[in-house]
Amino acid sequence: METLEGKVALITGGTSGIGLATAKQFVAEGAYVFITGRRQTELDAAVNAIGENIRGVQSDVSNLADLDRLFATIQQEKEHLDIVFANAGGGEIAPLGSISEEHFDKTFNTNVKGLLFTVQKALPLLPEGASIILNASTASTKGTPAFSVYSATKAAVRSFARNWTLDLKGRKIRVNAISPGVVPTPGYNLIGLSDEQVQEFVDSQAVNIPLGRVGTPDEIAKAVVFLASDNSSFINGIELFVDGGMAQI
Ligand code: NAD
Repeated sequence: METLEGKVALITGGTSGIGLATAKQFVAEGAYVFITGRRQTELDAAVNAIGENIRGVQSDVSNLADLDRLFATIQQEKEHLDIVFANAGGGEIAPLGSISEEHFDKTFNTNVKGLLFTVQKALPLLPEGASIILNASTASTKGTPAFSVYSATKAAVRSFARNWTLDLKGRKIRVNAISPGVVPTPGYNLIGLSDEQVQEFVDSQAVNIPLGRVGTPDEIAKAVVFLASDNSSFINGIELFVDGGMAQI
């Protein structure tokens, strides 16, 4: 039997990078998966690439009306959700001294407000035994030059996992954070880096990672499958680092 046989899952930001890789593995493990993204064209491309047991719903996590429409669709089509992977997020470079209000609002609105209301609005659909996975980052505990606002959002995400395990005590719903290390995805260009700068960053990071290399979206997806599945049935409130050891030294 496949690990996620018969489960219904939601992945926010499932059109690219870690979200897309996880959607592919969820479907391969037997789940029916709803993915979201802001742009219909990218959403359609992801749905077509996966093929079956996948449904795209256009929505921006920072827009509460979009989230209401998303959960109304899931309620109507599947009536419940066993797995929520709150993954949509991103960041841009801005050193202290050049942080604008727009930069702050955009980063917090997506990574913190969007993630919070994704989970809160999903609650009525979650049965006992459901699993919520929050995509944090090694940035939740490590410092990075010019990346403080993003890092602060990820510290907030890690904190949500600790606190929500208590708020959901009694419902037998697990909440865990996953913290990827350096995993090149299209998101790296959105940070504000050229392809050349991405390569330079990757090379400079790899030498400081105990495994000597950066990770892949598939390696993160495998860890998310584990946290989503009943194989992790006694794991609750943790931050699972998937970073080649980078944040552990
Ligand atoms: P990505 O840019 O490839 O994917 C991000 C996804 O989120 C895309 O599908 C994008 O459309 C979606 N998204 C962004 N803003 C959204 C919004 N407001 N509403 C709905 N969807 C939105 O990047 P990625 O590297 O795969 O990042 C995915 C998650 O992993 C993010 O939360 C990121 O912070 C986290 N993360 C990534 C790394 C890494 O090295 N790649 C490391 C640690 C954490």
